[in-house]
Amino acid sequence: MGGFDDDDLHDYENEDLGFDEDALNDDEYDQLYDALPKLKALAKNHQVDEKALKEILWNNYFSIDDSFEEVKQNYKREYGEYVRAVPDGGPSWILTIRTANVETGAAGTATQRAHGPARAQERGQRRLVWSSREGQGDVETGEGEKVPAGSGRPGAEFCSRERRTERPRDSEPGGNRAPKKAAANFEKPGPDDRKVESLTEKVAKIKIKEPKPAASKPKQKFDIDAELAKKNSKPNLSFVVIGHVDSGKSTLIGRLLYDLGIVDSKTLHKLTKESGAMGKSSFSLAWIMDQTQEERSRGVTVDICQTQIETPTQKFTIIDSPGHKDYVPQMINGVSQADLAVMNIDANSFESGFSNQGQTKEHLTIAKSLGVERCVVTVNKLDVGQWSQTVYDAICSQIRQFLVDELAYDAANLVFVPTSGFLGDNVVRPSKNLAWYTGPTLMQVLEQENRAISHVVDKKSPFVMVISDIQEPSKNDELVVSGRINSGIIQPGESVSISPSQEVGEVASISITASSVGSSVIKHDLQKLAQEGEFVELKLKKLASRENVKVGDVVTLSSNVLQPVKKFKCELNLFNIERPLLVGTPFVLFKNGISVPSRLSEIESIVTKDGRSKKRRHLSSNNTAVVVVELLERELPLVTIAQDRKLGRVVVRKDGLSIGAGKILELVA
Ligand code: GDP
Repeated sequence: MGGFDDDDLHDYENEDLGFDEDALNDDEYDQLYDALPKLKALAKNHQVDEKALKEILWNNYFSIDDSFEEVKQNYKREYGEYVRAVPDGGPSWILTIRTANVETGAAGTATQRAHGPARAQERGQRRLVWSSREGQGDVETGEGEKVPAGSGRPGAEFCSRERRTERPRDSEPGGNRAPKKAAANFEKPGPDDRKVESLTEKVAKIKIKEPKPAASKPKQKFDIDAELAKKNSKPNLSFVVIGHVDSGKSTLIGRLLYDLGIVDSKTLHKLTKESGAMGKSSFSLAWIMDQTQEERSRGVTVDICQTQIETPTQKFTIIDSPGHKDYVPQMINGVSQADLAVMNIDANSFESGFSNQGQTKEHLTIAKSLGVERCVVTVNKLDVGQWSQTVYDAICSQIRQFLVDELAYDAANLVFVPTSGFLGDNVVRPSKNLAWYTGPTLMQVLEQENRAISHVVDKKSPFVMVISDIQEPSKNDELVVSGRINSGIIQPGESVSISPSQEVGEVASISITASSVGSSVIKHDLQKLAQEGEFVELKLKKLASRENVKVGDVVTLSSNVLQPVKKFKCELNLFNIERPLLVGTPFVLFKNGISVPSRLSEIESIVTKDGRSKKRRHLSSNNTAVVVVELLERELPLVTIAQDRKLGRVVVRKDGLSIGAGKILELVA
């Protein structure tokens, strides 16, 4: 079952969500007393006391305009007869649920706004709004009723049958007007019920054998330690290029690949011709990474694009992520697969990227929250501003301050590099234009970082891989799933389980797709084994139903199945948020490259600056709190932060903005 049920409703009805001035934090207290005199002045002709004004401000998230609207609707002006439009004690919240099929738990969203505006028509009644996933229009009934099944209206299939039996609507057959005798007859067991009972008893006696997971048997016997040592002779770094849209991320990566000889001049020439024909010749290098038609015609990266390269001494996985604010979810997916972030800044429009509407700060905050502890900052497009060192220094100092002071990055883990991706200055080749800069090129920095990051692989840690892509070979029981191995090792012949469906299969082969420096040939090399940190394609066979396998699922050995959960406890760090987060507030949870509608189910405590923990009923900007999160429409296979330092993290977003990130402390159910 997905979505809200009657238990949830009961919880809300019994939750005291009233205004309590003592429970405000400093920030909210300031907002309240800043707004109160202004609202008082506006409402001076209305019969409303200060206590009510405070509550109205709180209900309206301290918005003076919205609060005054509420005053106007609910309180008569002084010269008229004083009538309180709403009876006291009415619930002051709206619950809006948008969900897909409640029976199947298919995808959709759920929203609830507690402490909603206490307008007359809303205060006296609760309102539930159900709507279909396809957005076929809300189906709304008064007084907390869900839509009756079979009403023929869109969304009717989302009706809760239990609820309908409890309190049938008058208009339905068998509703309140149904004869009492008929109702009583239904309570006695009928002949069909007796048949069902005896069948149930028989079924209960049948012993069903629990399917045992097939034992993991590697295909080949070989010296695993020697194979791992061979692999680790070339350290492997995965880095994601992040930054505001149009800062030149795709161009920078295209330039890197071109100057390393991985993309040959024939390919670049072809891309230059194609981009020229569309009037976008300046995008020729970016097109190396932006491969879809949509990306090319719009000139923005839409999805993450990943490529693996090998130098004589090292291996790299490069992840290009979209910078546009509409594609932050894809960017989160890219960051969750990276060891290092390369933050690319357009030196000529630094302010727009760094503003609160830009993506520079949001991307950096997400990267740190997802456990990326090292960051390289490329101050790019310096060719436009005549290679100015003053501009470069000023940008470095602002970004460093933000990273160290606000995100608590260790200054020793930050590197700054001046570049022009378009012209290729200081990407692979040092630049004569940047004579004032004596440090390493971007490629040299990446090599340094690759050496600095620990690559010790614990071969005994459990094998875990999140599926980021799926291809369907011609055989019905086969699939090729690709992704980054989060932990452990895997070999062909081993039997794996895919959570949450618990589909079991066998690894037929493992391959890695990569290009070597100086060659434009893309190789698909079969592997005897694959290990943590590698991006691999696993060909799976003997799957009972490959339809069950989805992007975002987690592959483990079948001897170590991950149980999916619906609730988890986490330490949630909130970013700057406009409105307080209350128990019941819905948001979208990002995990394993997918998004799941969720809600704040419980606030256990808030961790204050001096490390004390306080009980609170709502959360506001920059709070750190221990909370319980409930997934609304599906279960997810999760691991705690103690089990996996990267996989045990989540990002939460609301209304298209990233509002916080969490570390999973405990799986609840
Ligand atoms: P992304 O959205 O961050 O991936 O940016 P793109 O790589 O698609 O580049 C956006 C635009 O900026 C394109 O027109 C590029 O040619 C241009 N551009 C990228 N890098 C540079 C640079 O170093 N110098 C100049 N002058 N333009 C650049």
